[in-house]
Amino acid sequence: MHNLSVPLIVMASINFYVGLYYFFLYIRRPQVREHLPFSLLCLSAGFYNIFSAGLYNSLSIEQGIIWQRLQLNIVGIISVFFVWFISVFTEQKNNRIVKISAVWYLLILIASFILKPEFTISVLKPAIKHVHFFDILEITYYETEIGLVYLLETVSMAILYVYLLVVSVRYYLRSKSHIFLTVIIGIFAFFFGVANDILVGLQFYSFIYVSEYAYFAIIMSMAYVLLNKFVNVQTAFEDLNSKLEHKVQERTKENENLHDKLHQSEKMAAVGQLAGGVAHEINNPMTIILGYAQIVLKKIKPDDQMSKPLLAIEKEAIRCKKLIDNLLTFSRASKMVKQSVSVNKAIKEAIILVETQAKVKNVEIAANYEENLPDMMIDVNQIQQIMINLCNNAIDAMPQGGAIKINTAQDEKFIKITVADTGTGISDENKKKLFEPFFTTKEVGKGTGLGLSICYELANKHGGDIAVESEVGKGTTFTVRLPK
Ligand code: ADP
Ligand code: MG
Repeated sequence: MHNLSVPLIVMASINFYVGLYYFFLYIRRPQVREHLPFSLLCLSAGFYNIFSAGLYNSLSIEQGIIWQRLQLNIVGIISVFFVWFISVFTEQKNNRIVKISAVWYLLILIASFILKPEFTISVLKPAIKHVHFFDILEITYYETEIGLVYLLETVSMAILYVYLLVVSVRYYLRSKSHIFLTVIIGIFAFFFGVANDILVGLQFYSFIYVSEYAYFAIIMSMAYVLLNKFVNVQTAFEDLNSKLEHKVQERTKENENLHDKLHQSEKMAAVGQLAGGVAHEINNPMTIILGYAQIVLKKIKPDDQMSKPLLAIEKEAIRCKKLIDNLLTFSRASKMVKQSVSVNKAIKEAIILVETQAKVKNVEIAANYEENLPDMMIDVNQIQQIMINLCNNAIDAMPQGGAIKINTAQDEKFIKITVADTGTGISDENKKKLFEPFFTTKEVGKGTGLGLSICYELANKHGGDIAVESEVGKGTTFTVRLPK
């Protein structure tokens, strides 16, 4: 076997392997259309290598002519797959050129079988080439001159390859895909290979044929580009997948939140109705108890032995009335009066109401107002009530004193009011129940557990919401959002 056959057999094996690989890929996923012409291109190039090896090992013109004919026939077929592949890969809308070249090379194939040998190749016109390369290489190609049919094939192939080069360069300029540059370099290499072979074939100079190497170069460059495309698709798919997963997680969380909120408002509605009814009923007797206690207190002397119990009755009755007031607010008994006002101003007034209490408890209140807030349609009393509740809670959470920071801000949709403290913080367990009516951690008589549920309700009535962030031992921040 001639030495030059070795690389040919290696290349043929690789071409067959790559060809089958892409062929099966195409069978499994026909959506990727370019895999079919590419696999056929690889397989036919593999055959070309085998035929070339046949020619190198021929020892007579009779043997050589068989392989030469096979070679000349298969290059036409290769050209069809080549133009088909490039056309699909570069997304040509019109595949007329593929059809024309398929018909043309089929005609040549038929002609090569039916026409007389002098039109194709004949033993009568031998063109045997001895190539002698120093002492390294010596080879004899037992070839003949090519006839008209194969001459036409060669010329048409040269034209076709120029066309492919133009299409590919245009695709490269359009897609800016640097990877595709590999194919263009491959096509150039291929050009030089074919040009060399034509010149050697026409006996311009004496050299070995190299088009089989050129075929191999171009196929490998294409395989690389296809692989790259595959990897890109795969990566994009993975990205999409992880994005989707993230979305699903987000949605689930949103749903959970929504569910919680729904649950919360259901509860609020039920408790609200109940509380409203009871509050109304108790309000009147309580007014009477308080009224009489105060009347009697005015009538007796301060050192009277009835004075102490009466004062206790008054104090407790006042506490009850406050609770009832809270309950009534909560049950929406009090009507909403909206007016266009400055949120900052409303907050400033609310702060004045809690400042004394804060001073006593050693709590400092600092506020930072966003200057450009638009006036808003709000119920000033209700917004102030939210602020008072949040500040009172904050003060309660800082028995040793501390600081409250109030902040206003805005984004495209909302005005945000935050009340942050440096208090005890809230455990995750309690966070879940925070806005539930009657949830309190304070001792009996101190907390009612209505403050935050009222805040929640009032923010809701304004179309907004309230959220909490807290870290145990560090502090808590409540954020009220009101839609613009
Ligand atoms: P109350 O103040 O009557 O207990 P709230 O509804 O106002 O009822 O508050 C419910 C509970 O939420 C409180 O008992 C307290 O445990 C917790 N809480 C509210 N605000 C804060 C805060 N700023 N820091 C720590 N805990 C808080
Ligand atoms: Mg409270």
